[in-house]
Amino acid sequence: MPRTPTLTTSKARMLGRGATRRCAALRHRAPVPPYFTMVDDCPGCGLHFEREHGYWAGALAINIGAASAVFIVTFGVALVLTAPDIPVGPLLAILIR
Ligand SMILES: [Zn+2]
Repeated sequence: MPRTPTLTTSKARMLGRGATRRCAALRHRAPVPPYFTMVDDCPGCGLHFEREHGYWAGALAINIGAASAVFIVTFGVALVLTAPDIPVGPLLAILIR
């Protein structure tokens, strides 16, 4: 009876299996595509690989936070350097670009 592919092992173990090019679920070696190539299903056991919902939410939040921080710091430095005649319109046009 074939084993049902499941992902019940720890994430560290799955990362180790992936680094050694083994199946994350069953630890078997299969005709694996090259590194950094995502396949839809494991060629050995058929386990379907799919990103979870919200996979990109963390990266999106970090990107928005970093961009906001750069904007605020740059705008603050520009305000301090150009005071008291602050060219708000040109500054915003340059920073929002
Ligand atoms: Zn597999």
